[in-house]
Formats: sequence, structure tokens, C-alpha cells
Amino acid sequence: MAMAGRRRRDVLLRQLRALDADLQALGGGLLVRTGDPVRVVEAVARGSGATSVHANGDVSAYAQRRDRRVQSALEPEIRLDLHWGCHLHRPGSVTSRTTGRTHLVFTPYHRAWATTSRQDWPTPVDVEVIDPERDGLPSEKIPTTSDSSDDGNDGAGADAAESRLLDWLDRVDAYEQTHDLPAERSGTSHLSTDLHFGTLSPRRVVDVVGTATAGRAAFVRQLAWRDWYASLFLERPDLVDTAMRTDLDGVAWSDDPEGVDAWIAGRTGFPIVDAGMRELSATGWMHNRVRMITASFLVKDLLVDWRIGERHFRRELVDADVAQNAGNWQWVAGTGPDAAPYFRVLNPVTQSRRFDPDGAYIARWVPELSALPAADRHAPWEVGPIELAAAGVVLGDADTSDAATYPAPIVDHAAARERAIAAYGAARTPN
Ligand SMILES: Cc1cc2nc3c(=O)[nH]c(=O)nc-3n(C[C@H](O)[C@H](O)[C@H](O)COP(=O)(O)OP(=O)(O)OC[C@H]3O[C@@H](n4cnc5c(N)ncnc54)[C@H](O)[C@@H]3O)c2cc1C
Repeated sequence: MAMAGRRRRDVLLRQLRALDADLQALGGGLLVRTGDPVRVVEAVARGSGATSVHANGDVSAYAQRRDRRVQSALEPEIRLDLHWGCHLHRPGSVTSRTTGRTHLVFTPYHRAWATTSRQDWPTPVDVEVIDPERDGLPSEKIPTTSDSSDDGNDGAGADAAESRLLDWLDRVDAYEQTHDLPAERSGTSHLSTDLHFGTLSPRRVVDVVGTATAGRAAFVRQLAWRDWYASLFLERPDLVDTAMRTDLDGVAWSDDPEGVDAWIAGRTGFPIVDAGMRELSATGWMHNRVRMITASFLVKDLLVDWRIGERHFRRELVDADVAQNAGNWQWVAGTGPDAAPYFRVLNPVTQSRRFDPDGAYIARWVPELSALPAADRHAPWEVGPIELAAAGVVLGDADTSDAATYPAPIVDHAAARERAIAAYGAARTPN
């Protein structure tokens, strides 16, 4: 797993152990082999006399390359059957009638997605369980992070995932009201990690949740975004590195290692940004609205290349997924499909007031501001000295000044916005 962070590896190992236990209960077990996938899969398949190999499809460039190599090593004697259990519809199967390819705008894609009939699952057949030598899973101790409960993935295995889905049913009807409020821990499903690892299939999620209420329909619509990004990546796996809007691939990004460090550490002086980045580093998860705000801050306020942020999120997120992550980063950067125009720049303070009106999310992750009245937590630099002193807040460079308790903002948002618009504009109209 290229670039997988510690937490995602932990979750993967926990899930594989649970899968092994489930398979053992059925009289089999997980066969673990390490090495070049082409040689390993071919050796196991030929060694066991298999006539077909079944695998879950994946759209990343690495996975597409790997699967093509495996296929040419196996065929013609052995068939490679890719299934797409992590998607409602097989990527590439919902297409525009005009172009025959994936829609470049989400709304028509969603309309087609919602009315496309599902491909049948393969018919189950009896299989003979063979018992080859097993290497076993890596034996190093799996650190269970104390805050792992926040990633919504603390119980491993399909049964635990199913209970998380059933728990979500108690809350999904309020999704329209709660999904954009990061302080509401249960305002979204936290099912992204299960969907990524396949411990829950989106088919099961759609079947259980349905679309009977506005909240349910809004929730199910989000699953179409996953399929959409996967379909776009199936056609263009290079989108992890290349701006979809080629005219915006030449933005003169700023080389700002200090800004990137402050962003990663949650010390930008913008409380909603810092809260999000601290949630990410403490738990491996971040609320979607805050992913948008923090990503926009890096790309627009600091004018840092979206690929740097994409790599950081990919390393840190437990639900990190190449297509979903890069697709969303491109969307926020304005370089992606159906993205907002580049000159719309999210204002972190306005966003904070709107989506964290009580400042509760900020207070949770930036406790040094929690003694400020809720309305003052969004932009502490606008607060008077008496109020700051009463809350024990001293603004400054929190790195160097002993007295400072929280950084002053590292950029002026209005000026940064102008700079970003100019840089994007210049990329679009090169001299
Ligand atoms: C910069 C950025 C990076 C992101 N990186 C990832 C990533 O690596 N992996 C990932 O799964 N999601 C990613 N997302 C999308 C979204 O933030 C997460 O899917 C969501 O926060 C997961 O929480 P949830 O399960 O509670 O979501 P819910 O609100 O309960 O939504 C249900 C499901 O719908 C899907 N979904 C929701 N929003 C999106 C979206 N914008 N794009 C694609 N699918 C969506 C997810 O599978 C999610 O689990 C990213 C978003 C942004 C803005």
C-alpha cells in the first residue's frame, strides 16, 4: 500500500485478522503471501490448479497496472475476474449518452447512476477449500490507537461494520440538517473507512438505508460521488498527478515549507483550519466540511500545490482512497471536474461561523481558545485585548514567544485571496 499511513495499515491488519477468523470459522483461512503480486498470484493459482482468479477491482494507476500484469501472466489458461464490490455500479458502467464516457458534471451522472440497474452479483458456487502452507499476517504488534474510536472503525470485521450501519439508521433521517456541522460527531455516518476497505458494500448500505426520507436520499446521493470519482479515475488514472482542467495545471504555486508545516501542525492561526488539522493528526479522520475548508486554505490562502495536500491527506486519513482523495482535492482546488470556479475562495472565518456556530468544534480541538465566548472563537485576532486576557489567550508566534498561547494568523485572508485569484488567472491566460 503505497503511502499508507500507520493508522490505515493498523486498520487494514485488524480487518485482515477478522477476515481470517471468519474464514477459519468456515473451515478455510486467509492465505498470506508476500512479494511481487504477479509472481505470487500466478504461483498460487497454478499451484492449486485454479481455472479462475477473483479479485476486487481498484481504479488507482498502480492497481490498474498491477491487474493488467497479473492478467497477462495468468491468461489464457486462467481467467482473472475483477469484481467491483466497493461500488454500487461498476466504474465506467454509468456513462453519458452523448460521449459514451463518464459525465464530467456530477448532476447528470447522479441522475443516470440513480436509475441504472445493478449488475447481478456472481452466482455463489461450492468451492473446494485447499490448505496450503500459510505465511500468516505480519506478526508485529498492532498498536491500537487510543483515539481509534473517532475513525468510526474500532470494531473489525463485517459484523462490526454491519452494526455501525444499523446504528446509523437511528440518525440518517436528520442527515440534511446535521451533515455539515463538524461539532455533531454523529451528524454523518463515519462509514467511509468500511466502504474503502470493503467491510461494507455500498449495495448493502443503499439496500438498508433506502431513499424514503429526504435525509436518506441525501445520504445515498453521497455514495454516487464515490462511484463518480472512481469512474473518472478508471478513465484517467493520471488525475492523481495531473489537473483535470489542463489550463489550471500551470499555476505558479508558492514554495512555502513553513506555511505547510503550520498547516500540518494546526498552527495557522485560523481556528477552524487548525481544529481540522489537529483532528486529522489525532484521529486519522476529518469531517467533510472541514476537509473542504482546510484543503481550500492550503491551496488558495497559502497558494500551495494541491498535490502536496493530497499526499498528506492520503498518508494520514484512515479512509484514504486515491480516487476519492485526489478527486476531492482537485474539486476544492478548482482544477477538477464540476468544481466551483477558481475565483470562489472559501473564507475560513465565514465558514467557521456558519458551520460551527457555537464554536464547539473549535473548542474541542483548539482548547486554548475554549475560554473565549463562542462567537469570538472564529477570529481571535478581531477580539479586544481585555476579552483575550480574560480568556487567557495571548496571540503571537506560538513557536517562539513564551507568552503566546495561540498563533496570530499566518496570512491575511483578503490579500491571500487576491493573490490566489491572480495566480490562477495568470495560469489561464499565459503571456
Ligand atoms: C479534500 C478532501 C479529501 C477527501 N478524501 C477522501 C478520501 O480519501 N476517502 C474518502 O472516502 N473520502 C474522502 N473525502 C470525501 C468525504 O470527506 C468523506 O468521504 C467523508 O467525510 C467521510 O465521512 P462519512 O463516512 O461520515 O461521510 P457521510 O457524510 O456519512 O457520507 C456517506 C459516504 O458517502 C461518501 N462520500 C461523502 N462525501 C463524499 C465526497 N465528497 N466524495 C466522495 N465520496 C463521498 C463516502 O463514502 C461516505 O462514507 C474527501 C473530501 C475532501 C474535501
